[in-house]
Amino acid sequence: MTVLYAVLILAGLGIILGLGLAFASKIFHVEVDTRVEDITAILPNANCGACGYPGCAGYAEAIVAEVAESLNQCKPGIKAGKAAEIRKYLDEHPNPDGTVNKLKV
Ligand code: SF4
Repeated sequence: MTVLYAVLILAGLGIILGLGLAFASKIFHVEVDTRVEDITAILPNANCGACGYPGCAGYAEAIVAEVAESLNQCKPGIKAGKAAEIRKYLDEHPNPDGTVNKLKV
């Protein structure tokens, strides 16, 4: 009988803690702009820092936030035409407010 109580208590705790985690994930949910991930995937992902940002994801965030100087800052990606590829992507995926990213190639 004691074992049954232990199992019931552990099952109850599991349910309560699971519900707590589910509730916390809803409250602390962070909205992620998928364009950052998509632009990071377009970049060479050498994470060399030659663009002046801490890795390709940092440069992608700066592009999406329109704080980068241009789309041509990725030195390894220049010959591969990454800037034009990113420009095309940004034209097809406008900002959440409907405006188009104004960074130039
Ligand atoms: S220069 Fe290009 S490859 Fe290097 S970190 Fe910047 S975006 Fe990535």
